[in-house]
Amino acid sequence: MIKHDIVIIGAGLAGMRAALEACENHDVAIVTKIYPTRSHSGAAQGGVAAALANLAEDDSPDFHMFDTVKGSDFLGDQDAIEIMVNDAPHVIREMEHFGCVFSRDEKGRIAQRAFGGHSKPRSCYAADRTGHALLHSLYEQILKVSKKLTIYSEYYLRDLVINDFTCNGAIIQDIKTGKIEVLNSKAVLMATGGYGRAFQITSNAFACSGDGLIAAMNNGVPLMDMEFVQFHPTGLYGQGILVSEAARGEGGYLVNGKGERFMETYASKMMELAPRDIVSRSEQTEINEGRGIDGKDFVHLDMRHLGREKILEKLPQVRQLGIDFIGVDMIDAPIPIQPTAHYSMGGIPCDVHGQVIRDKDSSPVRGLFAAGECACVSVHGANRLGTNSLLEAVVFGKRAGASLNEFALNTNRVEISDENHALERTNKLTKELREMNGKESINVVRNEMKNSMTNDCGVYRNPEKMGRCLNKIKDLQKRFKDCSLGDKGSLFNTDFFEAIELKNMLDFSEIILVGAIERKESRGGHARTDYEKRDDVNWLKHTLATKSADGEIKLDYKPVSITKHQPEERKY
Ligand SMILES: Cc1cc2nc3c(=O)[nH]c(=O)nc-3n(C[C@H](O)[C@H](O)[C@H](O)COP(=O)(O)OP(=O)(O)OC[C@H]3O[C@@H](n4cnc5c(N)ncnc54)[C@H](O)[C@@H]3O)c2cc1C
Repeated sequence: MIKHDIVIIGAGLAGMRAALEACENHDVAIVTKIYPTRSHSGAAQGGVAAALANLAEDDSPDFHMFDTVKGSDFLGDQDAIEIMVNDAPHVIREMEHFGCVFSRDEKGRIAQRAFGGHSKPRSCYAADRTGHALLHSLYEQILKVSKKLTIYSEYYLRDLVINDFTCNGAIIQDIKTGKIEVLNSKAVLMATGGYGRAFQITSNAFACSGDGLIAAMNNGVPLMDMEFVQFHPTGLYGQGILVSEAARGEGGYLVNGKGERFMETYASKMMELAPRDIVSRSEQTEINEGRGIDGKDFVHLDMRHLGREKILEKLPQVRQLGIDFIGVDMIDAPIPIQPTAHYSMGGIPCDVHGQVIRDKDSSPVRGLFAAGECACVSVHGANRLGTNSLLEAVVFGKRAGASLNEFALNTNRVEISDENHALERTNKLTKELREMNGKESINVVRNEMKNSMTNDCGVYRNPEKMGRCLNKIKDLQKRFKDCSLGDKGSLFNTDFFEAIELKNMLDFSEIILVGAIERKESRGGHARTDYEKRDDVNWLKHTLATKSADGEIKLDYKPVSITKHQPEERKY
């Protein structure tokens, strides 16, 4: 058993920002299944929001708050949103002082660009590699304090140690050797990122498989608002790889098979810069009604009118992605795009201090904290605005770090008295996976899950499709047990970890579907063809899903925090 004061699972923006905050007074460990700078935060392109008022002088955190509340389709918790928008200018300047090379305007200030659903141009960016710039600056700060930290790089979180809703450690496994370790700590922070990989068409990296959520859920922690998955309007056709919203922020057009800028019909004021849920639905409607390009299932993103120089300066990376992955250069030709599963609004429920909660009365899970995309605070409600999630990761990563610091100062470590008991579930699953010798294939099961989730639980949902998808997922859970593992060894056994990831994805896909079938309304990213309207009377509430020991999923609901803005109709 290894002892630390604080264990942080995840080395993306949220995890590393928290570590920096907490390591001054404590012995902190960071656990990450991939090398820290390969975390998905590094793939973020378009920018991070803050009402700096550099480009629009009349911008303010109040406007940012209203845009975020409206963007969330009024499901976002307004107390949390207010904290985020007020902290935004401070954390951006702090990241700049950490060395983040933001692009500049002609006066030498941090440049800002327009983004979907924001009424003012407030995305701070580093060309179209913002996440890369932020993550590397933060990693440099982490290296500076590395003597105070232990980084378990390429270690896999297998389970948490939680008894009577008190967390005092985590079980991790060295990917290189297969060795399992018990970490005993005063507190654990979950910063494990999103869950987009359950979908066939997704912008998410391979690592985004929702492992942290399932570790929490297996220990009795509910998952909140899992039915809200964001589909980004501009994934490269057939691949899902992201073409940043920055492309439309810089002036790109969306065009259908008839050559029309179809957003005129759906959001005449904000056009291509309406929030993502609305643009993705509009695009899907055009495709469903036969107005895709050549009647097919994609539309065009046209950037040609911006000119070569602007594209090379502002969007060098997304241009290259188009060339590399579908052989189209946006300087000369429109790019074929389709909606792609992009962001997880749902996650581990926590309060504005990062404290994980376990029921509608916000009872805490002592010693367990969450931040970043795996957490559900909830600042994004039913639909996240672009650039608000890098912001969330930094703001709430920092806040969770401060909470961990405080908690660890005032708490004694509870020893893990029975190591074998703590390891029981991990050892059982390890044995089962190693002995799997059935006729099914992990790859086939994974592909069927991804196709089913993309086709039947996508932009538009209806009960027949969701029901079919839920049956499919349950069937795949059974078939998973009848798979076989090619590699039975211990060293760098990627087959083994991919099997765990598949199991996790099947488990949270079931939760997404159960919540989505039950939520009989359309709100943000959850659009039903049988209940087309938002229903504030019955559904202005967060879903909390728990799984019992016998596998039954139970749903409960938690009120939304409404402080300044009453729900109203969303028009753009
Ligand atoms: C292509 C793309 C572009 C984006 N662009 C933008 C943008 O321009 N603006 C914006 O605001 N947002 C953007 N987002 C969203 C944003 O990047 C993420 O929401 C945010 O970076 C998440 O940060 P995080 O720290 O929570 O998680 P991540 O950066 O995903 O890090 C998760 C960490 O958890 C670790 N981990 C996970 N599971 C385990 C396990 N089992 N064991 C050990 N470690 C584990 C991983 O190793 C990793 O270190 C984009 C997302 C994508 C996919």
